[in-house]
Amino acid sequence: MRVDVFTLFPDVVDPYLNSSLIGKARAEGVLDLRVHDLRSHAAGVHRAVDDAPYGGGAGMVLMPEPVFAAVEAVDPPRPLYALTPSGRVFDQSVARELASTDGFSLLCGRYEGFDARITDHLVDGELSIGDFVLAGGEAAAFVVIEAVARLVPGVLGNELSAGDESFGGDGLLEYPQYTRPPSFRGWDVPDVLRSGDHGAIAAWRKAKALVRTLRRRPDLVEERGGLTDADRALLDRWAPDEYA
Ligand code: SAH
Repeated sequence: MRVDVFTLFPDVVDPYLNSSLIGKARAEGVLDLRVHDLRSHAAGVHRAVDDAPYGGGAGMVLMPEPVFAAVEAVDPPRPLYALTPSGRVFDQSVARELASTDGFSLLCGRYEGFDARITDHLVDGELSIGDFVLAGGEAAAFVVIEAVARLVPGVLGNELSAGDESFGGDGLLEYPQYTRPPSFRGWDVPDVLRSGDHGAIAAWRKAKALVRTLRRRPDLVEERGGLTDADRALLDRWAPDEYA
């Protein structure tokens, strides 16, 4: 998969994409990540990329010429998304959608954002990572790339790890996980997880995932159509106190 990132801060973006599992996948050629400097096509001695907004107001706006030029020089993989707080909100389903493509591109803003001709005529869409305002699109690009990359075969060590986690196929948050030691400061790992009984472990995990989702994100339970009789039976068996 190829992902191109356009940014005013390539020196910030590049090292991040070289670290951890993404860096490894990049080195192995599973991910072809290309970082482009938006300033490289800016004109004039000062290589200005921003100017004051027409109509007045605070801050500076990214100008169309250098941004169009930087993108057109590369002809990056499409779709090309501008990262903006007013875009479609990025979530796990968008991550899955992007992970099924051969590639896509991200355009990082700064200052007060983009001249509207960039978002209207250069990009294919806009993505937001949530209802808050960052100082720049770089952190948003990391969020998108990381969430998508770990769904690409060959990026995660264990291909199964993405399957049964939060926002996975069953629409529930993940169940609680434990590792060694079996007892830590008097807090014990639930016996069932050490029982070797895989049916019981799966049932316990499903019940705990249901309880956690009911408590923290009832909207997700609603979205999957509420509780089934089988869900209620699991809850009665494995989490009667928490469910009551
Ligand atoms: N004036 C703009 C905010 C600009 S913030 C507005 O009110 O909408 C500067 C840059 O940070 C944006 O161009 C965008 O690239 C990035 N950014 C800020 N918040 C973001 C978010 N929630 N999601 C994605 N990118 C964001």
